[in-house]
Parts: sequence; structure tokens; C-alpha cells
Amino acid sequence: MKDYRIALLPGDGIGPECMNATRTVLDRIVAETPGLNLEMTSYRAGAELYRDTGETLPENVLADCVDSDAVLLSAIGLPDVRYPDGTEVQPTMMVGLRRALDVHSAVRPVKLYPGAPCVLRDTGPGIDFVIIRENLEGLFASFGGGAKVGNEVATDTLVVTRQGTSRVSEFAFRLAQRRKGRPSDGKKMVTCVDKANVFRSLAFFREVFFDVAKNHPEIGSDAVYVDAMSLYLVQNPWDFDVLVMENQFGDILSDLGAGLVGGLGLGPSGEIGEHHGLFQPSHGTAPQIAGKNLANPMATMLSAAMMLDWLGDQHNDPVAIDAAARLETAVAKVLEAGEVRTRDIGGTSSTSDVATAVADAIGCTKDCAAPA
Ligand code: ATP
Repeated sequence: MKDYRIALLPGDGIGPECMNATRTVLDRIVAETPGLNLEMTSYRAGAELYRDTGETLPENVLADCVDSDAVLLSAIGLPDVRYPDGTEVQPTMMVGLRRALDVHSAVRPVKLYPGAPCVLRDTGPGIDFVIIRENLEGLFASFGGGAKVGNEVATDTLVVTRQGTSRVSEFAFRLAQRRKGRPSDGKKMVTCVDKANVFRSLAFFREVFFDVAKNHPEIGSDAVYVDAMSLYLVQNPWDFDVLVMENQFGDILSDLGAGLVGGLGLGPSGEIGEHHGLFQPSHGTAPQIAGKNLANPMATMLSAAMMLDWLGDQHNDPVAIDAAARLETAVAKVLEAGEVRTRDIGGTSSTSDVATAVADAIGCTKDCAAPA
């Protein structure tokens, strides 16, 4: 039996509530799964900590994150807590953590669960695609750099390297291999999303992507410009399976994706490298509703399911992979039943109601098949 060491960073705003709810369901899944052991340690990090101590991510916490098998983070940052230069603490902390863990591929599943509210009138054969965002380069490589010339001109540089593009593309093809293909016809596909017609850097991204595609002839590959893709994702999202793109494009399209399938409260994410995985909901700290037991914890729970799946894949551990599927099924069951849902998805239930409902549903997913 493998013991997994998990660093928990509950963070700020609604982060701690979502993390508590997720902890309840993780404790339940461990209790129900012989052969799964999670050693979870919670650390303070983020804006509140900065306000109290002047530090956002203490050295020892960063070192423990690097030493852990995985990191589960809830949400970081508060708009009124800023560094002396006026910037928020969240970007600096997150970029630092990503760089330290070398998590090169951000994975944002966009899946419409039965019972989740959808803004589209027609959902065709269903929505189930994944956005893979290159996580360390692109326009975000300029973070902390950039240049301002006098009061008239400012620039940031978009960086694309062969190594960075190859590894995120390889990651995308490997993920496509494990999936069931696009909903419209079951074909496994990886689509490069770029602006290769305008920018040399993004033409290079496409060129490297197709070099990698040659190693995966069993999986279809194509390329679509980012502007066209934002249209297609609204008109025919079921025609896509895995999308891979530059950092800033991924940042934007993944929020569009979350908007298609019920909003930020249902959007999980994982940031994955060769040796580390960092998992967190795609929402922020939503300070307006913080501390009121109103936040939807499902995105954090689904991120925890992604974490278990990644740990299982990484360590060749079918027990963790099965636990991941059961946790996702439990969330899906509660959504489909529709009795317990938070305000953001049209209900009146509290964060803790959802925790109880999902924990109870885990009991009855023990013998269930993985979700479709
Ligand atoms: P950030 O810049 O940190 O990503 P943001 O201001 O873009 O944050 P969020 O803090 O994620 O966005 O939230 C925007 C709004 O979405 C919130 O005010 C809240 O109404 C809603 N929201 C986000 N996450 C949740 C959640 N888990 N449960 C309920 N509502 C949420």
C-alpha cells in the first residue's frame, strides 16, 4: 500500500470552506477504500498570511510542497491585500509555486454533468473536452519582467521554446490516449489552438506541435486559430476532445469552458509536471461570499479527484485511480439528483450540505462503475 503525502493549502476567502468540505469527502473515500492512505498536512499560505506576517509562501511550506506527492490548493488572494507596489499577492505566489514544482501542463476538464446548468439551449451529444494550457511560458513568461518606457509604451514578451511546446504537446497526446475521444464521434483528437497566421512564436508552437503529432499516428491532430476556437466552443463544443495551447490563450479559453458547463464552482484543474502535481479549483477566492457557508465546493472536490487519478497514473496504482472515479461519480450523483446544490448553480444549500451529500454518495458509489 502506498501512503501519499498531500500538502493542503486552503488559502483565502472561500478557500478554507471549500477545502474543509473536500477534506470531509477525502476522509470518507479513504475510510471506504482499503489500500488507500492519504497523509494530509494543511499549511497557511496566501494573502491572509501576508497580512499577518509579511510572507505569502514561507520557505518551509514551499519545501514541503516540493517534498509532497501532490499539492491540493483551494484559492489564494484578497483584493485588499497588496504588496507595497500595489500588485496582488496571488500571481506572485502562484507563479513561484508553479516554477518551483515545474508543472508545465495545466489541465482544465470541461465536462457537462447531468443536472449541471448549461447556458446552451442545445447540448448535442454532450460536452466533454479538456483544455491543456502550457503553464510556464507564453505571455506569462514575462511575469515579473516586461518593460515600461517612460509614460507612453509598455511591452511584455511572449516566449515559446521547443522544449516547453514539445512537453505540453506530448502531455496532450498522452492524455488523449487515456480518454474516450470527442463526444460527436468518439474519435481521439488533439487540436492545437494558436494564432499561427499572425505571430512567429505561435507559428513555431504549431510547427513543434505537429512534430510531436508524428509520434502519435493513432490519434488525430489538427490546428484551429484561437479566435475561431472561441466561436466553435460555443457553437459545437462536442466536436473537441483535447485542446493544447499557449499559456494566455489557455487562461482565457478555460474560463469560457467553465462558463459552458455550470460556472466556476464546477471547474476543476490540475497543473502537472514530470515529478509534481498541483490541483486547485479554477475559481478565485470570491471574497463577497467568503465565510458564509455559501461557496460551491464541487470544483475543489473534482480537483481532488483529478489528484487521485494523477497519483494513481504516476504510481501505477489502480486503487487510487478507482478512488478518483468514485469521488467524481459521487459529485456527479449529487449534481444529478439536484436536491443539494449551492446558490451559484441554482440551489439554496450550504457548502457543508454539499460536503455531507457527497460524502454520503461515496458510500453508495463503492460498487458503482466509473462515470460515463
Ligand atoms: P480571481 O481573480 O482570484 O480568479 P475572480 O474575481 O476572477 O477571482 P472569483 O473569485 O473566482 O473570480 O469569483 C467570481 C464570482 O464567481 C464570485 O464573486 C462568486 O460570485 C462566483 N464564484 C466563484 N467561485 C465560486 C464558488 N466556488 N461558489 C460559488 N460562487 C463562486
